Amino acid sequence: MHIAFIGLGNMGAPMARNLLKAGHTLTVFDLNPTALSALKADGAAIAQSARKAAAEADFVITMLPAAAHVRATYLDPEGVLAGVRPGVPLVDSSTIDPATIRALAAEAGKQGNPMADAPVSGGTGGAQAGTLTFMVGAEQALFEQLQPVLSGMGRNIVHCGGTGTGQVAKICNNLILGISMIGVSEAMALGVKLGIDAGVLAGIVNTSTGRCWAADTCNPYPGVIPAAPASRGYSGGFGADLMLKDLGLAADAARSVRQPLFLGALAQQIYQAVSQAGDGQLDFSGVIRQYMTQEEPSA
Ligand code: NAD
Repeated sequence: MHIAFIGLGNMGAPMARNLLKAGHTLTVFDLNPTALSALKADGAAIAQSARKAAAEADFVITMLPAAAHVRATYLDPEGVLAGVRPGVPLVDSSTIDPATIRALAAEAGKQGNPMADAPVSGGTGGAQAGTLTFMVGAEQALFEQLQPVLSGMGRNIVHCGGTGTGQVAKICNNLILGISMIGVSEAMALGVKLGIDAGVLAGIVNTSTGRCWAADTCNPYPGVIPAAPASRGYSGGFGADLMLKDLGLAADAARSVRQPLFLGALAQQIYQAVSQAGDGQLDFSGVIRQYMTQEEPSA
């Protein structure tokens, strides 16, 4: 199948590479020329706009930072809807609010393009390994159409319900993740301060009831998990500013149904402090720096 892939960042680039490995042909677009050159070297064709990338495609996937980028990529005069042929399915895998994807799907529907939300979890490691979980919001027929393509990038392709429900699942998952990373950071920093070795503490937690993804896969303490962003200066993972965005999405969604988010609100403030400290582009596990003093290792 010929796929247009737009947004080649920490997640999009490895996802696009897995589609090439699965035997698809790709035309890619990103505002960043370096990202485009890297995919070209791997065998993708490059386009000069989202419109041009979509023009020849049988399938369009977008993986962009936030709702404003997704709206622009679909609706601008040089955007996807200006170029894509009627009937071609559109999939946005960015994490955005349910209202935006529902509005975009309505626009796309007017010109005969079915559109789904399919945000992911699994991080950059899952994107590279092709083991992502896709949370798909789509009508049943569209879900069945998407499944074989998404399977080239993920292991669990879950149908959450109608358009927007993938984003609902994703927002709730990241609410847990944002809070749990702070909990693990708080405990790791405390344990080390009280004299236990970080690796020993993580080993105990990860065979005990404190075990979670933030502790056993993306542990925020430098050196505990060699493949984790904490062990490479918090580079190349899930940016703290993206987590801040997701907690904002959860807060907005909660407000719309008058649901309290006690810990979510506090977590939002903590990641805001991370961003203010200049660490917003680093992996969100860098939140542990809020708990560590200068003389402690901070990778
Ligand atoms: P990123 O910032 O690394 O990449 C985004 C890419 O989009 C960049 O290459 C940027 O140049 C490009 N871009 C921005 N605006 C564009 C436009 N108008 N047209 C074309 N390209 C444009 O972000 P990421 O980490 O890859 O995350 C992408 C999405 O996936 C976000 O919504 C994020 O919340 C979500 N997500 C990220 C992770 C993670 O671990 N990084 C995990 C799950 C979900």
